[in-house]
Amino acid sequence: MNLSNGRPYLAIPGPSVMPEEVLRAMHRSAPNIYEGALIEMTAGIIPDLRRVARTEHNAAIYIGNGHGAWEAALSNVVAAGDRILVPATGRFGHGWADMAEGLGVEVEMIDFGRNRPFDLNRVEEALRADTKGRIKAVLGTHVDTSSSVLNDIAGLRAVLDAVGHPALLMADCIASLACDRFEMDAWGVDVMVAGSQKGLMTPPGMGFVFASPRAFEARARMERVSRYWDWTPRFNPESFYQYFGGTAPTHHLYGLRAALDMIHAEGLENVWRRHDVLARAIWAAAERWGQDGPLRLNVADPDHRARSVTSLRLGLPYGHQLREWVEANAGVTLGIGLGMSEEGDPDGRGYFRIGHMGHLNAHMVIGMLGTIDTAFKALDVPHGKGALEAAASVMAEG
Ligand SMILES: *Cc1c(COP(=O)(O)O)cnc(C)c1O
Repeated sequence: MNLSNGRPYLAIPGPSVMPEEVLRAMHRSAPNIYEGALIEMTAGIIPDLRRVARTEHNAAIYIGNGHGAWEAALSNVVAAGDRILVPATGRFGHGWADMAEGLGVEVEMIDFGRNRPFDLNRVEEALRADTKGRIKAVLGTHVDTSSSVLNDIAGLRAVLDAVGHPALLMADCIASLACDRFEMDAWGVDVMVAGSQKGLMTPPGMGFVFASPRAFEARARMERVSRYWDWTPRFNPESFYQYFGGTAPTHHLYGLRAALDMIHAEGLENVWRRHDVLARAIWAAAERWGQDGPLRLNVADPDHRARSVTSLRLGLPYGHQLREWVEANAGVTLGIGLGMSEEGDPDGRGYFRIGHMGHLNAHMVIGMLGTIDTAFKALDVPHGKGALEAAASVMAEG
């Protein structure tokens, strides 16, 4: 029996579920981009973005996806021939490093595999070995969306300070902003990148770059920065078009305004707490299923798990059968495994991911978990009992 008609639930780690408030805000005719409401609204969005990033400093909006924000950030602080250090888990650190290589930047990569966070001792060794001070920046992915590993960005700052290394600290918070606690200024982050389509609940198409005063000075020392990526006019525009290096992303801005209003109405601390409880409910269910079957959480230690996405291994043939079943029969779309190839499974089809970022509440999570439980029964996937009870207990405790 097909039970998929009804409201679909896109439970992938971005784009995330869009609230009705965001969709309604975008449903309007084209606004004047030269004067009036849009100009005033945009001026108000910048400080509200800063609040979400927990920074007092510079914020810029780029029309682009996360990859655009990656390149924008790099373009302002590193040039061809410079060197950067990239401690990476999973896929996304490699992605950002690849953008840097495309700009002619030399990358020193430390790969920590796909189940573990950075080892700060190894980062420290690499910084101490840089006696000539060639490393201009350290790039850290806060939440790696493929492995669902949560990395310690404040720890990177502590290591840089302990070594007394002047490199900039750059963080990718595309999958964590407004989901997992992140404190740009308190953690000493110089550059942070984010995107609209994950915790910020707005369609893909806007990338955000935040910069500390140190990063701003580093930009001033650059010989040349491409006009479009240059953050200087965007941080301090003299005319409205300079925010965006051209026409504003009009409807995205209305959507973002609504999303920021929702985040601030709930309170950022409460947003983080909600993500925490819902994530722990998902992990509790997964642990129960795994007690009597092949399901495993990709990250064993809960302290190193993201609160916005969970990567799981079910093995073949079940992984992709599960995703296909829940989408076709129950209206839930789960994420594919990313970068999880292994022997006998070159495409990582035995893995799947649950996106739990942004506009998400208890009944959605219980419904999604119940749907997975139903699929296990329909597909004869061996699984432990009591997963939903375990999830419900976590939520009831709050
Ligand atoms: C989604 C994501 C990206 C890439 O964003 P796009 O919008 O797909 O370009 C980069 N880093 C992380 C951590 C992400 O989750």
